[in-house]
Amino acid sequence: MSEPSSAMQQRPVLPQSVTPLKLVGQGTTLTGVVPSKRLGRLAELVVSIDEPVAANLEFYADESGYPVVRGNVTTLVCVVCQRCLQAMPQKVSAEVAWIIVVDEDQIKSLPKRYEPWLLDDSESDLHRIIEEELLLALPIVSYHPLDQCEGHETFSTGEMVGEVDRKPSPFDVLQELKLKS
Ligand SMILES: [Zn+2]
Repeated sequence: MSEPSSAMQQRPVLPQSVTPLKLVGQGTTLTGVVPSKRLGRLAELVVSIDEPVAANLEFYADESGYPVVRGNVTTLVCVVCQRCLQAMPQKVSAEVAWIIVVDEDQIKSLPKRYEPWLLDDSESDLHRIIEEELLLALPIVSYHPLDQCEGHETFSTGEMVGEVDRKPSPFDVLQELKLKS
């Protein structure tokens, strides 16, 4: 994992536990990062998370008075190209449009342009819902652009197709790391 740049270290870490309705009442905008170590489920699906998640989230009441959150979340991960099986960077970003819900029965009557953020309690885990948004935004499969993909070059020139198989895949490396830890 690369060292965070000095610019990233200056960005504040977003609070994990928030009171969303209070933030809406105050019209708060939260800008900051979620450290990659807090993103266990995302980490399981990628080779590495190379940047903390940057988020900009505006809490407000919309024109109908619904408590909502709008903004964006973005990070950079490393995934496996499904053509050449080498690691590749993948930007993951999502537009946020959450509606704060305190009672599950409300969900079906709410405007469909929002994703429900169902609160268990008045406090809620902001890091977890940001991670859920990124999990939805993560492409199911990723490929290098054709001109940058070793798999493409190997196959198109007819060289040693078997060579691709002998290279350790990033998943092997990941497996080794997991066994060691
Ligand atoms: Zn590739």
